[in-house]
Amino acid sequence: MRHLAPNYQPLDVVLTAGEGAWVSDTAGRHYLDCLAGYSALNFGHRHPALVAAAQRQLERLTLTSRAFTHDLLEPFAHAVTDLTGTEMLLPMNTGAEAVETAIKAARKWGYEVKGVPAGRASIVVASGAFHGRTTTIVSMSDDPQARDGFGPYTPGFRIVPYGDADAAARAIDETTVAVIVEPVQGESGVIVPPDTYLPRLRRLCDDAGSLLVLDEIQSGLGRAGSTLAQDLTGVRADLTTLGKALGGGIVPVSAVVGRGDVLDVLTPGTHGSTFGGNPLACAVGLAVVDLLRPGTLQARARELGRMLRDRTDAMVADGLLARARTVGLWAGLDVESSLGLTGRQTCELLADAGVLAKDTHGRTIRLAPPLIIDEDDLDLAMTRLREVLLSARDRA
Ligand SMILES: *Cc1c(COP(=O)(O)O)cnc(C)c1O
Repeated sequence: MRHLAPNYQPLDVVLTAGEGAWVSDTAGRHYLDCLAGYSALNFGHRHPALVAAAQRQLERLTLTSRAFTHDLLEPFAHAVTDLTGTEMLLPMNTGAEAVETAIKAARKWGYEVKGVPAGRASIVVASGAFHGRTTTIVSMSDDPQARDGFGPYTPGFRIVPYGDADAAARAIDETTVAVIVEPVQGESGVIVPPDTYLPRLRRLCDDAGSLLVLDEIQSGLGRAGSTLAQDLTGVRADLTTLGKALGGGIVPVSAVVGRGDVLDVLTPGTHGSTFGGNPLACAVGLAVVDLLRPGTLQARARELGRMLRDRTDAMVADGLLARARTVGLWAGLDVESSLGLTGRQTCELLADAGVLAKDTHGRTIRLAPPLIIDEDDLDLAMTRLREVLLSARDRA
């Protein structure tokens, strides 16, 4: 890999093809994909409806820039806002751009509507969060790996412990334009906050006249067993960021959805993206919404999620895992320390056993299989994981 910058350390597999929940490599080996592109592949590899939508669009129109509009832009905005019960959508490409868009909208809203003195806007964020990799977003992070060496940092962020509404309350003041958190922290290892956390943040934001911004780039679009993870709590964000699965595993598509009176501050010329909302992205995004509209995939994530929870809870009971956190079809698993395996080593052994997963930090691995995975395949993944952990215990 002499020509490739070393900013990733991938597992030792070279993939050449994928279909549904399965991928294969140059050696002709098959693997069950239990990472699913960090949830960008919620519908599996090359879902027929998504590939067909992309192919149809490739024959017609792929890019206009926002200097001109096109026939799918408003239908896409309508479909996503309808699906998510929101008023307005601003399209971007990557998740980080959606988060940047939410930050810019919140700040401008803060100055123009809330009346925060110029240059004083503050945003409350959570420790352990992951919102992307831009210089401003790493300024919101307390992860040394993500942050160190990239200063000077963008000011205006206050980092408080995740899941602790009292700490958020202490950090909010009259300059606070927004609180930005993930409803479930993905990169941190599927950290589910207390049930009262989001409702309390909602009330704090209402009392302070601040915006609640929920980053659902990983938790949204079916993963948590609901269209949005916030649906599980009854809380409605003022702005929600979407990405990953919105592009159907085909093209990068992201968006901010939420209150029209907030997104209205981004008037012509104040924000944009050459590729944001392009015809190909909208065609795929519309097909993604079609897949989610009936609610069957969300129900499936809940149903298979119960199996994921039962099987991983059993591994906790058997002393193979120290902890298992699950929500929907999504699990953060801490390998029992006496097994002597790091998360990375666990993922390497799993790959040898034909299952692809990704470590997050230390002894934690994350499982996020495609929502279209069938029960037998999920059963296979659980069996393989159990075998890997059992044989590590035998060696330890
Ligand atoms: C992946 C992710 C992002 C960043 O998305 P990119 O498309 O990689 O820029 C932001 N927030 C959350 C919660 C994510 O999981």
